[in-house]
Amino acid sequence: MKNLQNKNYIENISKPTYTKILENGKINKLKNINHEYRENNKKQILLHSCCGPCSTSVIENLMKNYNVTVFFYNPNIVNEKEYERRKKAQIEVLNWFNFTDKYEGVVNFVDSSYDPFEFVSKAKKLSEEKEGGKRCTLCFDVRLSKTAEIARINKFDIFTTTLTVSPHKDYNTICSVAKDYAIKYSLPFLDENFKKKDGFKRSIDISKEIGIYRQNFCGCTYSVWDKDKNLGGTNGEVNSTKKLHTSN
Ligand code: SF4
Repeated sequence: MKNLQNKNYIENISKPTYTKILENGKINKLKNINHEYRENNKKQILLHSCCGPCSTSVIENLMKNYNVTVFFYNPNIVNEKEYERRKKAQIEVLNWFNFTDKYEGVVNFVDSSYDPFEFVSKAKKLSEEKEGGKRCTLCFDVRLSKTAEIARINKFDIFTTTLTVSPHKDYNTICSVAKDYAIKYSLPFLDENFKKKDGFKRSIDISKEIGIYRQNFCGCTYSVWDKDKNLGGTNGEVNSTKKLHTSN
């Protein structure tokens, strides 16, 4: 592990930034991020992350070619307790990348407040949809439109999402939604299918190594119901011994 107790070390590394979006869409302290990381000539990518486990192999992949800032924006998550639990896992992932010697560079973290109302008001009309149907397309739309907007406001070079690492999610649907916002905001979308080349398997392996919480339902209230039907449970509580979903 990198020695965080070493004062010289702390002063000399480019420190990761863990911060929030301001009300005007600006990312707090982004000036510093740009100043420090443009020096290595890698492009700045804003990576929408659905959860810590899915982000693991995607971050590992992207760090080779980009300065990565993770954007945790998931208003689809069923309640604040679950949101905080997933956010905590996300931060544990970033700590692992930032403070483990084998990875060069740092990964920044940007959080947004938990604000499910817009998603819930639209999704309830689609409550009968199966996972993978129109409600999920809406869910991608809500998250990727915000990601593209925030990337544009804060002058990122490109944006992408962890959603394509999941075998439960349709790559073409995700890309189609993202590309609409790439056009709207005049910003490239990195349309990589992160589940390829064993990306999903690698995400499970890294998650186990870190020892983070991995959910067993997608995220919204409807996916809790589906999970309960499939697993014979009733209370929506996540149990790591059951079948794991690892994506929202
Ligand atoms: S099942 Fe997952 S992707 Fe679909 S709407 Fe719910 S949280 Fe979103």
